[in-house]
Amino acid sequence: MKIVADLDLCQGHGMCEDTAPEVFRVVESEDGSYDQVEIILHEPDSGLHEKVDSAVRYCPNRALKIQ
Ligand code: SF4
Repeated sequence: MKIVADLDLCQGHGMCEDTAPEVFRVVESEDGSYDQVEIILHEPDSGLHEKVDSAVRYCPNRALKIQ
């Protein structure tokens, strides 16, 4: 499993972080005007796959993909 985020689509809702905080973190942009996801663990081990699948499925902007 490898996770990628399309930052053009992400609007920082943070649902991914709520679902899998081991993998996703929402951070402020440098000028503080918006939030975006940061992937902390790009290739999480199998124990986290179910959480990651949920985060990808429920991202309201469909900004996350598994490759
Ligand atoms: S990836 Fe999706 S759920 Fe996560 S912060 Fe961005 S828009 Fe929100």
